[in-house]
Order: sequence, then C-alpha cells, then structure tokens
Amino acid sequence: MTTELYLLAVLLALLLGLVVGKGWERYKLRDGRWIDRRRLRDTPHYMLGLNFLVDNQVDQAIEELTQATSTDADALEIQMILGNLYREKGQVGRAVNVHQALLQRPDLTKLEHAYVLLCLGLDFRHGGFVDRALEAFQEVLELDPRNRYALVHLQKLHEDQQQWTDALRVREQIAKIDAGRRPDDQQILGFLRNEIGSAQQRAGDSTGAARTFADAIDVDARTVPAYLNLGDVRERQGNLPGAVEVWERLIDAVPGRAHFVFDRLELAYRTLGTPQRFVGLCERLIERDPQGWRPHLALARHLSAAGQHRAAFDRLLEALPHHPHGLAIHQEIWETLTALGFDAALIRRYVELTREAVFYLDPHVCRRCRYRTAEPLWQCPQCHEWNTFVEERMAPAKEPAAVDAM
Ligand SMILES: [Zn+2]
Repeated sequence: MTTELYLLAVLLALLLGLVVGKGWERYKLRDGRWIDRRRLRDTPHYMLGLNFLVDNQVDQAIEELTQATSTDADALEIQMILGNLYREKGQVGRAVNVHQALLQRPDLTKLEHAYVLLCLGLDFRHGGFVDRALEAFQEVLELDPRNRYALVHLQKLHEDQQQWTDALRVREQIAKIDAGRRPDDQQILGFLRNEIGSAQQRAGDSTGAARTFADAIDVDARTVPAYLNLGDVRERQGNLPGAVEVWERLIDAVPGRAHFVFDRLELAYRTLGTPQRFVGLCERLIERDPQGWRPHLALARHLSAAGQHRAAFDRLLEALPHHPHGLAIHQEIWETLTALGFDAALIRRYVELTREAVFYLDPHVCRRCRYRTAEPLWQCPQCHEWNTFVEERMAPAKEPAAVDAM
C-alpha cells in the first residue's frame, strides 16, 4: 500500500511536470505576477526531495521539498507531494489542510483541480472518512470521467463496504477505459459477480444466485469460487449430476486449483455410485502434472478409506518430495503407518525421504505485496487485490526412487 502510494505521488509529480513543461511553457501568470519555474531547478532541494522520495526516505523528502517551496511557494506539484507524504506518515489532518488549501487557488486548471481532489480523496480514505472520500472521488470523475485512479479507489471503497453491485458498476467503467489492454479486468469482474451471487444466496434467492455464478464464470473462466458456489447451489437443489458437471469444468479451466473440488467430487461420485471416477480423475491429474502433490494425497485418502493402506502409503511417499513441509501429507502418512501396524521398513523409507526437508510456515504468498498466509485467500487483506496468492514452492527433495536406492 505504502509503496503504491509513493509511486502514485511520483507519477503525479511527473504528470504535472509534463503539463508544466509542455502546456505552460516556462512561465505562468499567477495573481498578476510571473513565476519563473526555472528557479525551482536552480536549487538542489527539489531534486534531492524527489530522490529521497524514490528511496522511501519520507522525512528527508519532506525536509527537502519544504525547502524547495521556500524558493517557489506556488509550486503546485511540490505542495501536492508534501500533502501526500504527510498522509503517508499518518498525519491525515495535515495532508487534508495542504490539499484543501491548494483547492482554494483561483488559477487551477481542470486537470490540476482533478488531481488535487484525488489526493484529498486519498487523504479521506486513509483517515477512514468514507463518505467524504466517496464525494471527493466522484468530484474528480465529474472533472475527468476517465480518471482511472479515482475509479479504482471508488471501487475499493465500495468493496470495503461490501457494496458489490456498485463496485461492479465502477469496475465495468474501468474495463471500458482499459479496452482489453489489462487482463486483470475480466478476472476482477468475475470475482465481483461471484460476491453478488453470494449475497443473493444469503438473501435466499438461489435461482438468482445460480444465474449470477454462471455469469461470473462466463465473464472469466478463472473465477474459481463461482464454480464451487454454483455446484453447491445445484447440489442443494437436488441436481447432483449438474453440480458434478460444474466442478469438473473447474478442473479443466483452472487445473492448478483442482484440489478445491476434490472433497466435493469424491463424495458426489460415491453418492452417485461411481467411486471409481475419483481414482480416474486423480490419475489423469497426476499424468498432467507429475509435480502436483495434491492428487497423490487425495488418491491416498481415497485408497485408505477403502482399506488399501499399503497402496495409499506408496502414493503418499510419491507426494512427499514435491511438498516436503506439507503437514497434511505427514499426518496422512502416520495414519497409514498406524493402520499398517508400524512396519519398521516402511518407517525407515519415510524417515530417509524426510531427512532433507526444510520446514517453514505460511506457504501462500501475495504476488503483489508479499503478504503471507496459511490459508488460500481470494482477496489479499493487505493490498486488496484479487486472486494474487500463489503457493511458495521449494525445490523438490530427492526422488523416491533415489532414496530407495540409498
Ligand atoms: Zn497483497
């Protein structure tokens, strides 16, 4: 979040720098007197300030930029950045004061006005003044309807308050502006539709929810929770084959997330009297991705439930090198060893295989902000982006065959 806003501040400075350089040329009439913008560049404070900013050294940046304003107190972009830096330091009141003072200037261009309002909106959002932030972003959009920053923050404000329909409407505007240049748009539109469907379901409208979940999948085939939810609705409506159809579709569309439907499918196949389909499914997945450990584990559990503990144990030892710190695998191994009466030879194989494993916590990492969690999440609690979690993988340990040969 912090880095994102520094970059935003720098970007704003550069944008305005362009306007300053090209649009206004070097001089600008202000309150009846000419300001020489070259003077700003004659002092080191402006450049030093920007450098500290890029280095994330906020206090030094504030000091240098404040010095620079003593050379040219009217320099709008410096005041704007200073306001943003106060906000970053948590001095929201001070940030609001600086930005509101800028709004009082009679000579702001439309673009400047919009950007100062945007900064003010960020101040309010940071301080938790939701209504005033909403108002500020909406004012930005009146001046500049295609302002992507304002739209993105508006979307996030709606999301914070679980106003999913409003968030979706705003994201659709953003997608229109992006015109297919950003692949994220479809994904976010899918996730927001899924949230709307969940709200419909909570309100008791299963038919409407099912339609919305199906829409979410149509909008973006990667919307994993929509498959889960749509299948759950169909199952509750007594349409188990329909549920199976949508869960299987998830596996084809997003094979990396296939494990989210393992439990559901295993139970459903068993209920439908075709438990063998689960074995076939796991084997196909293992063939497709030999590094994947989850189908091995799922298959082992399935075999154990059928009393085939020795076959289950072999599956588990195949899974282990691909995910040596997976507690779920170790637990399943101990269950299986218990069922097999603690066969000393099997225990020795297991110990050899785990010898070089390194254990660490919180395997799910946000690709955007590096937030770590033990649970797979669809929206990052730190940077609020959708679907950014990946599982940190370690280098595979020795192959089971190599350990056997030792
Ligand atoms: Zn994040």
